[in-house]
Amino acid sequence: MSRRRQIYEGKAKILYEGPEPGTIIQYFKDDATAFNAEKKGTINGKGVINNRVSEHIFTRLELIGIPSHFIRRLNMREQLVKQVEIVPIEVVVRNIAAGSLTKRLGIEEGSPLPHSLIEYTYKDDSLGDPLVAEEHIACFGWASQEEMQDISAMAIRINDFMAGMFAGIGIKLVDFKLEFGRLFDGDFSRIILADEISPDSCRLWDIETNEKLDKDRFRRDLGGEAEAYQEVARRLGLFPDGVSEVLDLDSERKKRGK
Ligand code: UDP
Repeated sequence: MSRRRQIYEGKAKILYEGPEPGTIIQYFKDDATAFNAEKKGTINGKGVINNRVSEHIFTRLELIGIPSHFIRRLNMREQLVKQVEIVPIEVVVRNIAAGSLTKRLGIEEGSPLPHSLIEYTYKDDSLGDPLVAEEHIACFGWASQEEMQDISAMAIRINDFMAGMFAGIGIKLVDFKLEFGRLFDGDFSRIILADEISPDSCRLWDIETNEKLDKDRFRRDLGGEAEAYQEVARRLGLFPDGVSEVLDLDSERKKRGK
């Protein structure tokens, strides 16, 4: 098979040119980074799990009318997606105080918020993805007012849906990050959900014990990160034949260089 052209390598994914124009292949790596890539490591099997978890969430969101770039999963680590122009804004939705919100405002981690909060950060690693207001987004033309209306409306619906989905499997959806893109059709474009939704981009706590089942295990050196990701996949009913069997197979394949 001829080698595909790599378009971009990010911290957790590689993008390749897709088989048809307007398509891209997202390859999910096991690499993990935190604190703007100051901390680097790997979480065994993470790419396989994130590929599957993201497929699961994006297909369910499509069913409730959230358009996304997801076309289909190709194999254990790859999915075919529509090519979009990424809006340079990270959209963070929060239900419970954690992470940068607690540091910025001195709010105790775990405090439930009176209502869901949407925050925007400007996607620029050299600036450390700074928090911005909607006024900055409009002022610098990162997204139009109309696009921001679509983005915020979708973010709220996604939060409602995901909070319910995770509550049903004994998990609190503390916060998460979304990215959106412009899908062009001639001169027109519309906003669709892009990137991924996985334990890399969400804070997920066990409802009973508040145990962290997400990338905070890596960020904070808590250990057991691979097991936490596997637990989320297991509770979502993915990998019905057992996640470790699938991951063993994957590591065998990697060893053989396939
Ligand atoms: N997040 C992400 N990518 C980023 C920044 C944040 O996926 O570049 C997610 C993070 O996993 C968490 C939520 O967005 O679920 C809110 O993150 P926060 O602003 O608290 O920043 P952090 O504490 O992760 O630096």
